[in-house]
Amino acid sequence: MTNDTPKAPPLYPKSHLLAASGIAALLSLALLVFPSSEVEAKKTTLNLELETPAEQLKDEANAAPLVQSTTEQGSPFAQIENAQAPADKTAAAPAVEEKTEAKAPGHREVTVARGDTLSTLFAKVGLPSNVVHDVLASGKQAKQFSQLKHGQVLQFELDKDGQLSNLHSKVSNLETIRLSKTDKGYSFQREISKPLVRTAYAHGVIKSSLSASAQRAGLSHSMTMDMARVLGYDIDFAQDIRPGDEFDVVYEQKVMDGKVVGTGNILSARFTNRGKTYTAVRYTNKQGNTNYYTADGNSLRKAFIRTPVDFARISSRFSNGRKHPILNKIRAHKGVDYAAPRGTPIKAAGDGRIELAGRRGGYGNTVVIAHGNRYKTLYGHMQGFAKGIKTGSSVKQGQIIGYIGTTGLSTGPHLHYEFQVNGVHVDPLSQKVPMADPIAKAERQRFNQQSQPLIARMDQEKATLLAANKR
Ligand SMILES: [Zn+2]
Repeated sequence: MTNDTPKAPPLYPKSHLLAASGIAALLSLALLVFPSSEVEAKKTTLNLELETPAEQLKDEANAAPLVQSTTEQGSPFAQIENAQAPADKTAAAPAVEEKTEAKAPGHREVTVARGDTLSTLFAKVGLPSNVVHDVLASGKQAKQFSQLKHGQVLQFELDKDGQLSNLHSKVSNLETIRLSKTDKGYSFQREISKPLVRTAYAHGVIKSSLSASAQRAGLSHSMTMDMARVLGYDIDFAQDIRPGDEFDVVYEQKVMDGKVVGTGNILSARFTNRGKTYTAVRYTNKQGNTNYYTADGNSLRKAFIRTPVDFARISSRFSNGRKHPILNKIRAHKGVDYAAPRGTPIKAAGDGRIELAGRRGGYGNTVVIAHGNRYKTLYGHMQGFAKGIKTGSSVKQGQIIGYIGTTGLSTGPHLHYEFQVNGVHVDPLSQKVPMADPIAKAERQRFNQQSQPLIARMDQEKATLLAANKR
């Protein structure tokens, strides 16, 4: 006895749409929930590993020896910078090298203004046009010097005869390009600086929307999406966010010359949604696999019940092409069929929100459950729904949602069960369905050693922040 769904019009297209547009759309939805009013959020950045402000300063200074800040070279700021720097900074070899260069009598620098070309800039420091030609002809990479940006600074070193010996320019916070005169012409070098990675803390209270408060707290859009992804199983960021919800995040921040140039991973996050608090901690196990866990070491990804019907027989497996028993055509079967007597209870495969409890074409009586933003399950051909199972209500894993039947296009009592990851159907019996592996016993101690300071950091920073606000 087989059975199945007919030429299903695109399977629940609404959810496909949602999955396709991703969390960005969900966040915009969240934005719409409270369209107006102001936002309150705070940000602090502190270096967790370093005890005193003086040590922080030293570390930041040491982290950026490769690239020289343009203000240090012969500008009035140079002295101030040196005065602030700890004594051991000036002793560092790379810094000394740059300083010598800066003091050289042949040093010239020009800032690119509107309408400038390499020729006009070279002319400003007294270099004839044939030198521009030689520079550009010296190699493919040297041509990068002609891609001038408004405000970019070109630094020239001229020898005692006024000939160009060195040309360099900072093209971004992390990158300097350099051309040095050799016996054979000019040689090109690219200097990439590695930013210092430090941890930063952000705290926000939602007054209007998550994106607005996150922005106010100094979190980038991608960081906000990361937070929604990390906690997306427990919190529905599209529909559940309310004013008064709050979050704490400890994340990696990349710093160059004291300036923030980028962000890295979220190390820990805590979100209080409608009075309930969820915590996530990033942990990389000894095998090198990284996941987010709750504070007590459980996986944030919840496992799904493998089989939503007890004592059922699999009557049809997942396939990308099979002969449909009613339509008599080759069709993909994007789910698994479980045959069982009429009235057998069907259980929710995981916690979630009911997106649909009603009739859905050839599926007959159908329940669709969204499990966070990533996962969806569908249950078709049901005889009827359990009490309280309505579109929009919440369900717990294992809760009975309905009973086996044969409604819709079906040849006999069975459950048609589908599983989606990010809008793509996967075999519910495959390895693609997430397992909730907690921290292994052997790694428990290591996990605690790493996670506890992160959680303590969030507690401490938040307390400091609240105390400061009271003053
Ligand atoms: Zn089926």
